[in-house]
Amino acid sequence: MEKWSDEWKRDQLNQLRTEWAGCKRCKLCETRKNVVFGEGNVSADILFIGEAPGKEEDISGTPFCGDSGNLFHGLLLATKIKLESVFITNILGCQPPENRHPQREERDACLARVFNIIYLIDPLLIVPMGAIALKALAKGRDWAITEQQEELFSSPHPSFKIAGDQNGLEIPGLIFPKNDEAKRKHCLEYDMLPIVHPAFILKEDSFDSQTKKFESKGWAESTVLILNRIRQLIEQIHTEHENVRRHA
Ligand code: URA
Repeated sequence: MEKWSDEWKRDQLNQLRTEWAGCKRCKLCETRKNVVFGEGNVSADILFIGEAPGKEEDISGTPFCGDSGNLFHGLLLATKIKLESVFITNILGCQPPENRHPQREERDACLARVFNIIYLIDPLLIVPMGAIALKALAKGRDWAITEQQEELFSSPHPSFKIAGDQNGLEIPGLIFPKNDEAKRKHCLEYDMLPIVHPAFILKEDSFDSQTKKFESKGWAESTVLILNRIRQLIEQIHTEHENVRRHA
């Protein structure tokens, strides 16, 4: 099997999936039903990373299959980003009790899973969904997606680099090959473009129980605009690659 072929990547990911299915690295293993490892295209251009599985995801083992997932799938449909062309995972593999935010030890215990996925998928762009995912990946950058969303339309857009062990973050269990320094460096330098979490859109853009009206505050629309921009960026990169290949 050729290294970095789709078949090889699928095999590596399946091995990781099996390893993490029995994970006991943090106490969430006591309450979870399933580890939600992540799913999608092994050669995805875009890797979406959410916060943590919810109830439906815990039951099924599939990321974004509940209400937030329905909205997320709708956003992709609206932007013509094909669900089959992306990979989706979360910062945490296990559902926290009462859907509370991840605790630091839980997040750190799960980082090797996330970074191994990034390493194997090798996407063109990482899209953290929500502040928790962005913060976990872009260490040291405090950035409010909701307040600074208009900056995401600016050109060049704000670029976040994922923070690997160059920032002193040790991630036990990483499978970066020690002798593959070029690849390893590249892995630590992915660009990210965050979007708000679908659950936030559901909360903000939905039924107002006081006025009894469905009131849109425009989060879905602005997220569709950013996703369209992401799709255009990816298409542009492909065109540039194709031109380089043709003229080589
Ligand atoms: N919210 C997330 O962040 N991830 C899921 O998989 C579902 C809901």
